[in-house]
Amino acid sequence: MNKRPILSVRNLHRTYQSGEGILTVLAGADVDIFPGEMVGLIGPSGSGKSTLLHAAGLLEKPDAGEVYINGRECLKLPDDERTQIRRDTIGMVYQFHHLQKEFSALENIMIPQMIAGKNTKRSQQEASRLLAIMGLTERSTHKPSQMSGGEQQRVAIARALANKPQILLADEPTGNLDPATSAAVFQSLFDLTRQEGVSALVATHNMALTQYMDRVLTVKDGLIVPYVRSATAPTY
Ligand code: ADP
Ligand code: MG
Repeated sequence: MNKRPILSVRNLHRTYQSGEGILTVLAGADVDIFPGEMVGLIGPSGSGKSTLLHAAGLLEKPDAGEVYINGRECLKLPDDERTQIRRDTIGMVYQFHHLQKEFSALENIMIPQMIAGKNTKRSQQEASRLLAIMGLTERSTHKPSQMSGGEQQRVAIARALANKPQILLADEPTGNLDPATSAAVFQSLFDLTRQEGVSALVATHNMALTQYMDRVLTVKDGLIVPYVRSATAPTY
């Protein structure tokens, strides 16, 4: 494995002001994600998984800490440069698909490519290729409302990978799906990220999904630590 991480989070601190006072969520969190790895992030609701992913994805600024993408610190860059790095290198998937409801599956995967400057034909070819890998060629012209929850989420995963990011950050990507659909969609996410050579950091509640991961992390006392299975550990 390549020794240089694609993503390095260092000494991340994040507190929130809540009714009862200051809530410390991250207190010096470190994470490294290496090329080609799929890393799980588990933990109960409210433990800080989304906070970490949003900071790592350059969507929110933490109180302190650094986020390095390919060795370059990004939090201190001007907004436009940070946005550009996020668009070029990071794909995000959420629990809810956030597809544009007035557009077809194919168009939803084309849009981010066209925003990035690719022409219509090439965007369409890439969208068709990803839909085919996802087994959704027959759904190309369907709008989100005409697809099942699992199909919608597969389109969202394809969309996240359309601009060939180096890292996929997925925040409970199958959290809205029933267990059987969740397993199938996760298998698609796993296969596609592997096939495309994308590294992934995937937050999930679902312990069963961690069998696919190269490593599993969890949040403990504001730090990111390896998750160790034990007889007494709770199952999330
Ligand atoms: P997870 O994704 O593991 O469920 P989050 O990162 O969303 O956890 O949240 C961690 C903690 O921070 C939770 O207790 C949550 O209520 C709190 N929190 C998250 N965002 C905010 C916010 N914008 N304002 C106040 N508290 C927040
Ligand atoms: Mg969350």
